[in-house]
This record gives sequence, C-alpha cells and structure tokens, in this order.
Amino acid sequence: MPMDIQSTLDEITEMMDARAERGHVANYVPELAQVDPNQFAISVVTAAGAQFNAGACNVGFSAQSITKVFTLAIALGRSGDQIWQRVGREPSGNAFNSIVQLEQENGIPRNPFVNAGAIVTTDEVLAGRAPKQALAEIVGFVRAAAEDADIHINEAVAKSEQAHGHRNFALAHFLADHGNLRNAPELTLGTYFHQCAIELTTAQLALAGRFLMGADAGPRMVAQSRVRRMNALMLTCGHYDGSGDFAYRVGLPAKSGVGGGILAIVPGAASIAVWSPGLDRNGNSKLGTEALERLAHHMDWSIF
Ligand code: GLN
Repeated sequence: MPMDIQSTLDEITEMMDARAERGHVANYVPELAQVDPNQFAISVVTAAGAQFNAGACNVGFSAQSITKVFTLAIALGRSGDQIWQRVGREPSGNAFNSIVQLEQENGIPRNPFVNAGAIVTTDEVLAGRAPKQALAEIVGFVRAAAEDADIHINEAVAKSEQAHGHRNFALAHFLADHGNLRNAPELTLGTYFHQCAIELTTAQLALAGRFLMGADAGPRMVAQSRVRRMNALMLTCGHYDGSGDFAYRVGLPAKSGVGGGILAIVPGAASIAVWSPGLDRNGNSKLGTEALERLAHHMDWSIF
C-alpha cells in the first residue's frame, strides 16, 4: 500500500507536469500573478503517520483561502456556536468574493469559507486585540498543527492584496454597515490579508491538515465532534460555486485557495495537499482538482 501511494503520486505528477492546459493564475493580487503556472506538487500524510511527496513539494506557495479552515477552528474554539449568529452554514452558489448575498441576507455571510464569511471569523479571532496578536495565534495554530515552526507570512503578498483588495474592503464595510464587524474594517482586513498570505509547502500543508482526519492523527487541535462539522462545511462550501462539482468528482471534504492549493481530507485515513497555481473559472486549482480526482479514484478514497 505505501509503495502504491508513492508510485501513484509519481505517476500523477508526471501526468500533470506534461499538461499544456493549466488554467490561469490569479491576477487580482499582483504578487500572485507573478507565480510560474508550470508547477505541481502533491503530498499525502496517512493516519498512521506515513508521508509521501511528489513534484515541487518543497516550494512554498500562498495558502490564501485554505487558511479559512484554520481561522474557523480558532473562532469556534474562542466563541463556540455563537459564531453561527454572525455567519451561516449554507453553500453560496456564488463566487468567493461575491457581495450580492450579503445585501439580500442582511449582512450575514452564507458560510465561513466565502470571503465575507472569513472576514467575520477573522474579526471574531481579532476580538479587540492588536492584529499582531491575532496573527500570532493563527500562524501558531498552523505551526502547531504541522509541528513545524518554519511556516511564515509572506509580507509582500499581504501588502500586495492590501493595496488592491477593493472588493474585500467593500465586503468589510458592508458587514460593518450591518453591525456584523466588531473591529475597525481596516484592522480586520489587515489581519485577514496577512492570514491569507501564510506560505507553506504541500508537505507542510498535508501535515497541518492531519487534525481534520480525526482518529488521533497528529496533534489534536480540536474535538472530534468539531472535526466532523468542519469537514461537512468543507465538503459543502470549500470550493465556492464549484463545491458540488468537486464533491461529485473527488468525493472528499476539501478547501481551495486562489494560490492554487487544495487541502483534502479522507476522514480517518489521510490528509492530502496539492498545489498547481493555474485556476479554473471558479478560482479553484485546475490541475489540483484533476490530481485529487485521480488519486481518490485510484485509492478508493471517498466519503460516500
Ligand atoms: N485573499 C484572497 C481574497 O480575499 C483569498 C481568496 C481565495 O483564496 N479564494 O480574495
């Protein structure tokens, strides 16, 4: 079986490296637009602790929206179910940065994985502290989950988004207008942009995702009942308006980011991180999704 995982990852990597159609890198954050699309990496950590890597698994990439999973875990730890008064648990069927539902639904974002929802969970984690302290907690959480102190925020990426993130400023001000922001919009957004700019490799991300397998894999970061619920949200909302298609094709709870990374969980069995910067029309990694589809099929990994 272990040999099988490694050879499967090697085969998938070879196949993906040869692909000409790789999608388009995110260009609304200038710093992300510079990333070479011709990169691919995949890493798997099993519940028993075995690690497998292939491709550019030691190249750091911008985690972006994948960090929304970690921030949700921290927000739930701090505030418990009270957070659900500020953010919903339904798939959005809209783009990650859409503002339309916020207006229709009185400033309550659909779920914690669209931008508006993550701005709310970040706001909850910030809770009157200095952004530096909240960020130390978020980065500390990721480092503890991965058991790796060498995970950092890429300041240039954070600054680049801060300078161009008009859409997120609009979302934050809209939330504030509806009384759903506790801190000044620029402080919550500063924290949000920096958390999105956490940089890690697929090897580090697969390790950081172990706690979501449950089954006492890796450090226990949250209770098992919460792990289940987070996985439910990842399955239904983790890929925005592409969540249904992802569930159909891959059949695993997962969270994507515009940096081209995806963290996918096989409950009780494996944590998988994949990275390829080219995105599909929903802003999810094109080759990353295809690689997960192939891996899940080959390993017979599905929650269904
Ligand atoms: N920082 C990005 C943004 O707010 C995160 C979006 C994403 O990864 N989908 O636009």
